[in-house]
Amino acid sequence: MVLIVVTGMPGAGSSTVVEEALKLKRGKESIVFKYMNYGDVMYETAMETGLVANRDEMRTLPGEKQREIQMRACKKISKISESTNLIIDTHCTVKMPLGYLPGLPEHVLRELKPDQFVLIEATTEEIAARRQKDKTRERDVEDKTSIEEHQFMNRVMSMAYACLTGASVKLIGNHDGGLDKAAEEFFVLMNRLSESEPKLY
Ligand code: AMP
Ligand code: MG
Repeated sequence: MVLIVVTGMPGAGSSTVVEEALKLKRGKESIVFKYMNYGDVMYETAMETGLVANRDEMRTLPGEKQREIQMRACKKISKISESTNLIIDTHCTVKMPLGYLPGLPEHVLRELKPDQFVLIEATTEEIAARRQKDKTRERDVEDKTSIEEHQFMNRVMSMAYACLTGASVKLIGNHDGGLDKAAEEFFVLMNRLSESEPKLY
């Protein structure tokens, strides 16, 4: 089965792009992708053990705890991906006080075996403005320089993931007023992958 990993900085709009692309899917009933958010699965896992009360608290947990929940979530997701085409929405890196935590360290990649990485990107200004508008989340307030640095780290980290797995990295810009274009690009990619059923492993 095909596994696509979609990542984006908080505010880049990865979830929005995938949701729009999945609406386009209706015309072609033959292609079925299940869509899951890695953060949701981690949050469920963290709540089972009473570690956090809200999802934005997860990135403030000690690194060891985050890695433990990350791996438990990975096992759950990997089980599901055995029997269905899957899109996983997650983060290339999670910014924490000790630095950038890899969202998909080698032991996670070995278990998940992704076929494709997609990076949803926007400009620094767009990201900052979207974070300010989103009152449903406790987004970190980052200045322009640190948003730029974070986005750069996500790019380099995604190429490291590509090297470890052999999967390609597609960059998709989700700019203001350009959601339809971004969703279309993602839709085309989904179709290509499901047609070719890549077998990298
Ligand atoms: P999201 O709603 O996509 O921003 O995800 C919520 C939270 O889940 C993030 O702030 C992270 O704390 C956590 N998270 C999501 N994906 C990963 C991952 N691959 N590794 C570690 N933490 C993650
Ligand atoms: Mg998201």
